[in-house]
Amino acid sequence: MQNSFEIAVFQGDGIGPEIMSPTLEILRDMAAAGGYGLNFVDAPAGAAHYAQTGESFPAASMDAARSADAILLSAMGLPDVRYPDGTEISPQIDLRKALTLFAGVRPVTVRPGQPTPLALAGGQSIDFVLIRESTEGLFYTQGCGEVEADEARETLRITRAISEPLFRFAFDLAKARQTSGRSPGKVTCVDKANVFRAFAFFREMFDAEAARHPEIEATHAYVDATALWMVEKPWEFDVMVTENMFGDILSDLGAGLMGGLGLAPSADIGHDHAVFQPCHGSAPDIAGKGVANPMAMILSAAMMLDWLGDKHDVAQMKADGNRLRAAVDAVVAKGQTLTRDLGGTASTAEVAASIRAALA
Ligand code: ATP
Repeated sequence: MQNSFEIAVFQGDGIGPEIMSPTLEILRDMAAAGGYGLNFVDAPAGAAHYAQTGESFPAASMDAARSADAILLSAMGLPDVRYPDGTEISPQIDLRKALTLFAGVRPVTVRPGQPTPLALAGGQSIDFVLIRESTEGLFYTQGCGEVEADEARETLRITRAISEPLFRFAFDLAKARQTSGRSPGKVTCVDKANVFRAFAFFREMFDAEAARHPEIEATHAYVDATALWMVEKPWEFDVMVTENMFGDILSDLGAGLMGGLGLAPSADIGHDHAVFQPCHGSAPDIAGKGVANPMAMILSAAMMLDWLGDKHDVAQMKADGNRLRAAVDAVVAKGQTLTRDLGGTASTAEVAASIRAALA
């Protein structure tokens, strides 16, 4: 049984290195105590690297990602550093395409003590997972859309090769949540099948997968109604699965429900590879000040422990993923050591120290 893993680490831009450093320290300690190995391999890439070297994503870094057991990525891109055509540097999107990371997993969870713009009544809680397809949809022609003098075109693409494993992933996740007692087991397909034939095709494949899981409730929702319901009755969702652009937009709505991006982790998962990164960007406005919230990065690392532990059947890693989440929950619930984005005054280092104390 494999229990030592190589992790490609993209420190990234802006606050990236500031939130990655305490995350790696926590992971190192957990691995040492837990009897498994994590070997971190630095993979330079991003906007600052492009500004210094003229290269945004060196081949050696792509090789490191390809050969690693998992990939940890903080945040990439800087508003002032762009390619000559004006587009931003985003190796994380290149990675999704190159490694076919079709399942963008965005948990939307409001922990006790966590700020949320919604007034939740007793017994109501927000705990669902949005799965955003991340390789095709309306991002299919990204970077090569056709622009003429009076007209521009981009193409939406939905394929069986991606959609079928995407829906399998969604139902497997719902099953795992049901088995753990976390949710009753439900998957919602979010689309626009009433208007576009491509989405009717998407829905047909969803229904075929749903038929294989009679123990899981399968429902459909149009994307516009979903935006409304995410605000009106988010507690009714369990797992939702959708196209790339719809998922891009709805995942920010999900982050809004969570009181901002500081507590929003994510994973981009394919057949063989997976990238774990916070939902937020490189936050250049606060970079270098030591005040960035490391929690979304740390929660993403917990998702990496879950995924590796599950894939390689290492019970200790799965347990450590849960412990790490519980430690963040405890710090949020206590409310004493929070960064500014969560209404506190603590530094990145102080928050990381509190999480370590909660782990101990
Ligand atoms: P991108 O387009 O790369 O996702 P963005 O421009 O949408 O990035 P972010 O870089 O995520 O935005 O920053 C948005 C706001 O949230 C900024 O004011 C930033 O300071 C704040 N922010 C983002 N991440 C954090 C964090 N980890 N801790 C504290 N504040 C953060």
